Amino acid sequence: MNGARRLYFDHNASAPVRPAAADAVARALQMPGNPSSVHGEGRAARGLLEIARRQVAEATGGQSRDVVFTSGATEALNALLRPELQPATGPERLSRLLIGATEHAAVRDGHSFAADATQTVPIDENGVIVISALEKALAALRGDGAFAPALVAIQLANNETGAIQPLADIARVVEAAGAVLVVDAVQAIGKIPFDLAASGASAIAISGHKFGGPKGAGAIIFNGERIRFGRALIAGGGQELRRRSGTENLPGIAGMAAAISDAAKEQSAFAVRSLVWRTRIEAHVLAIAGDAIIFARDAARLPNTTLFSIPGLKAETLLMALDLAGIALSSGAACSSGKVGRSHVLDAMGVTPDLADGAIRVSTGWNTTDLDVSDFCERLQNALTPILQRRNQRAA
Ligand code: PLP
Repeated sequence: MNGARRLYFDHNASAPVRPAAADAVARALQMPGNPSSVHGEGRAARGLLEIARRQVAEATGGQSRDVVFTSGATEALNALLRPELQPATGPERLSRLLIGATEHAAVRDGHSFAADATQTVPIDENGVIVISALEKALAALRGDGAFAPALVAIQLANNETGAIQPLADIARVVEAAGAVLVVDAVQAIGKIPFDLAASGASAIAISGHKFGGPKGAGAIIFNGERIRFGRALIAGGGQELRRRSGTENLPGIAGMAAAISDAAKEQSAFAVRSLVWRTRIEAHVLAIAGDAIIFARDAARLPNTTLFSIPGLKAETLLMALDLAGIALSSGAACSSGKVGRSHVLDAMGVTPDLADGAIRVSTGWNTTDLDVSDFCERLQNALTPILQRRNQRAA
């Protein structure tokens, strides 16, 4: 049972690097030039950087000139969610920040609005934004009189439950209120279709390591001229059209670009494959433990993600037992210390603390196979059966 073959089902935390991305990193590492240098080596590095920019733009429905490379999505979101972000038509500063109740810590803790200028938009029991509440919150701001545009930050898909937000409805309400929309598209890329130009977002944040690029590379992609930075994200040598200084991380950027190209090409086939696996895994979990709860089950969800809890079982116990069985999973809310934390996502969805403490997430990705899923189901059953027997004895 504890076979040597590991089963990696934690793609939402970080995906294995795609072969095309590893090749692109290796090629970039061979290039000595600085993209800002004028000699041949510098121009070659600049050429690679601009090809990568085009690939990222094409895969997301944006324009090359609107791509700003960053160290990841956390940096991208920190940079975007600032009061001094400038709407093309509006006043100098944004008045308030509205965020979804299930946003990632990079949004919740990464913005720099004052606490009393920040508001949380409620979600329903499936983790989906309540559109009428967003509409009301924006209307109340207009009613305040001293109106300056608000900034709304919403994730397209949740990293824990996979719940997908109704972006078209959100964009319509935000636009009608004259507000600005920033979308955390980190978990959506490569899993569901996305087109920045048609999205209604003013900018998005993406992260290379979530779709098979190297860790530590991400990007902001602006949707044309709707918004711009009030000041450079990092000041210095003026790289990235003076928006983010510092010599670019060419290997990371080239790897991310190769990965996003592949991810975009494979997205629809992957969605079909992964939905079959998710359906199979969820049916299997329910066959092993009939009282298991699958979170956000009634929402549109990422096809690769399932988050479930079995009453009476703690996530830590399950994760350790499954790790011993050769399976890598996360609790939805694993924090940076490696400990299992309480999920603010499940809290916001009104899930009881006992159930929330048991939540574990299964997420498939580009290199998952049918055999992986079969082996996963078998090992899950073998690992869970004795744990469930002990639980049932305790309850008897
Ligand atoms: N937003 C979401 C929804 C995420 O899942 C993550 C990563 O877990 C981030 C933002 C942060 O991305 P990064 O790891 O590139 O900083």
